[in-house]
Amino acid sequence: MKAAVLENNKFIIKDVEKPSLSGERIGAIVKVAGCGLCGSDIVKIRNGQAKTGDVLGHEVVGEIVEINSGTNFAVGSKIVLGHHVPCFNCVYCWGENYSMCRHFKSTNIRPGGFAQYIYVSEEHLQNTVFNVNLNLTDVEASFTEPLACCIRAVKRAGIKDEAKCLVIGLGSIGIVMGEALKAFGHKPSGCDILEERCIFAKEYGFENTFISKNEEETLSAMRKYTSCGFDVIFLTAGAAKTLDFAVKAARDGAKIVVFSSVRDSSGFQNNEIYYRELTVMGSYSPSPMDLEDSIHLIEQKKVKVSGLSKVYNLEQLNEAVEDTLSNKIMKAFIKI
Ligand SMILES: [Zn+2]
Ligand SMILES: [Zn+2]
Repeated sequence: MKAAVLENNKFIIKDVEKPSLSGERIGAIVKVAGCGLCGSDIVKIRNGQAKTGDVLGHEVVGEIVEINSGTNFAVGSKIVLGHHVPCFNCVYCWGENYSMCRHFKSTNIRPGGFAQYIYVSEEHLQNTVFNVNLNLTDVEASFTEPLACCIRAVKRAGIKDEAKCLVIGLGSIGIVMGEALKAFGHKPSGCDILEERCIFAKEYGFENTFISKNEEETLSAMRKYTSCGFDVIFLTAGAAKTLDFAVKAARDGAKIVVFSSVRDSSGFQNNEIYYRELTVMGSYSPSPMDLEDSIHLIEQKKVKVSGLSKVYNLEQLNEAVEDTLSNKIMKAFIKI
């Protein structure tokens, strides 16, 4: 079968062995229809976390073509999945930090979704695989995992009804964060250095957007909207200086949710956090419950996840990475 295998930070299309259930192996073989290209895939390539020989991709939508399982899934089921499975029985899971669970971190689909077929284990089938309504497009269904990450961040932030929420970084995940906030009854504001992304975010129902060109001007525009500052701020931009900016845009007592990795840390703002009682928290990856909430919101059309992705084929994966990095596109969906 075909797979995009990483070699010296580039994807090469190779013929690799198709996964199988031979030897009474338990689980399922899924024929991948397509897979979203996640910002974290690109980070893994750039930071050298992904190695030569790896097949990346986790925002998978596909169809079960072989199964040997105690679950109700069947050949022909159209599914989406989460690639990590928590154990539900460790100090992290008990504290609801499912994505910190060591079992969660050690589980994965093999190979990744940039391949024609993947193997999905029985414990994935039991916990993190979901049937998809056939009237959803593959692209919409592929947002299950990224939306679930945003849902988790919104839940973790414990936002009060009238809170003023700001999303810094209006790439695809920033837009999806806005969709998650709206689905939970909030009215998000957004901020980005690119004007076209601010305009786009407004079309997606952001109440207010701020173009971040000159910091003082941006902050003064924000103060006209909310004089004390924002109550909850989500950092989706992946740039270190956004934390410094978020501290300035925050009201005293605010929460700042760190939602992306950055290349160089900007340092720890001890005194701002202390004197202003700020809460800086992280939110990483979704739990099985967030995935379930996510697919329901997508199916019930309570979030809009169409219109963000450009479709590429597997051979164009390197081009999709370049186009994402240069902000030429919002999001790539790789049709397999
Ligand atoms: Zn992802
Ligand atoms: Zn656990």
